[in-house]
Amino acid sequence: MNACDSAIMAGVMQEAGYERVDSAEEADVVLLNTCSVRQHAEERVFGVIGALKEVKNRRPGLIIGVCGCMAQRHGSGIRARASHVDIVCGTDRMGRIAELVERAREGAVVDTGSSGEMPPSPTMPVANPGRGEGYGVTSFVSIMRGCNNRCAYCIVPSLRGPERSRPAGEVVVEVEQLARAGVREITLLGQNVASYGREGPVRLAGLLPMVAVVEGIKRVRFLTSYPSDVGRELLDAIAGIEEVCEYIHLPVQAGSDRMLKAMGRRYTRDEYLRLVDEIRTAVPEVAISTDVIVGFPGETGADFDETVSLVEKVRFDSGYMFKYSEREGTRAADLADDVPAAVKQSRLVQLIEMQRQISLERNSSLVGRMVEVLVEGPSEKDRDMVSGRTRDHRMVVLPGGDDMIGSLVDVRVAEAGPWTLIGEPAERKELVP
Ligand code: SAM
Ligand code: SF4
Repeated sequence: MNACDSAIMAGVMQEAGYERVDSAEEADVVLLNTCSVRQHAEERVFGVIGALKEVKNRRPGLIIGVCGCMAQRHGSGIRARASHVDIVCGTDRMGRIAELVERAREGAVVDTGSSGEMPPSPTMPVANPGRGEGYGVTSFVSIMRGCNNRCAYCIVPSLRGPERSRPAGEVVVEVEQLARAGVREITLLGQNVASYGREGPVRLAGLLPMVAVVEGIKRVRFLTSYPSDVGRELLDAIAGIEEVCEYIHLPVQAGSDRMLKAMGRRYTRDEYLRLVDEIRTAVPEVAISTDVIVGFPGETGADFDETVSLVEKVRFDSGYMFKYSEREGTRAADLADDVPAAVKQSRLVQLIEMQRQISLERNSSLVGRMVEVLVEGPSEKDRDMVSGRTRDHRMVVLPGGDDMIGSLVDVRVAEAGPWTLIGEPAERKELVP
């Protein structure tokens, strides 16, 4: 989501005549897009803001903007802590960033107004973030903003507002533009993407075929699905539409009903497990990933054991594990953050290690099998290799050069690690257009 918002700002700035440069040293304007989900993320941003002070001391004309969730959350508090920041730009204002930069030339600007407006679509590539300029092979498309859920620990709804879905026609036009620019794989994004179009007329299951038929698009994914919103129609769309990939990110957060209830999640352990069965029956080749929070207030050893047993039972393909981080203003912040730091840490380490082993075993079961890979770019570690993903979102590194980028290739899996597969030289199925 943040990559998408950064692309929106980059596009707005480019339209206003700015160019992207590689470092703060060369820049006239530095914009930091930020995340508030966990305390640690915020501390890192404050570290970067601190480091920019020196650059600003040397070049007082430099304009520094803090944008997104931290800006929305702290407002003028950012400037109270770091007076060298010129712009504080909230989550609904990123589409107006160029205007704020101009105003900042006259004096500091804090704009965290919430108009409920949808920001413009990105006009700069969101594709392959971090892989340089130009559209890549894969791209994110934000199809909704905000969240109507009220998970007790989560700050997102208060910073990003209620759910708003973009009209299906607008999404399709953006996908058509991306396809013409060479994008082959689209990931439709929303905090709670499975509730897209709740007010109608087009739900996610209806949007998927509209995007899948866009010429040039070979694969479609969607992120993130709140378990209670995943229904039969969506599963039928994954199973029935060739381009829709067999991958679903299905955050469970905890394995005990007591914790799920305290977290304000709208499903029980059994309902989640039944949903996993239903997904695997409907889409046998599916990969399922998850998010888990350990150390939520009141989490006992027995609660944690239930999370461990759920992870063991489901055997997720991958998992993102977090330590609970208290966020002021959330319902959970009224509860005592009573799981000692050392206990949180040891639960986290145990869970990460367990998931690492499960991911390794699942990946190892693919050794010797053929998988379809969409080649995204050169491997970061070895210039004689390229990397891409399988339909079920596993990273694969294989021998090859730049001419393979954008191709769909059939690859035999030679080796497997917990996070990556190594492939043998590939047979190309689709040539770069
Ligand atoms: N909307 C998605 C959902 O509910 O499935 C998740 C969005 S959230 C930005 C990404 C993940 O961050 C969550 O799934 C949760 O595991 C984690 N998270 C959110 N708030 C947290 C907190 N206060 N402490 C630790 N982890 C948190
Ligand atoms: Fe946060 Fe829950 Fe909404 Fe996800 S579903 S963004 S965790 S409130």
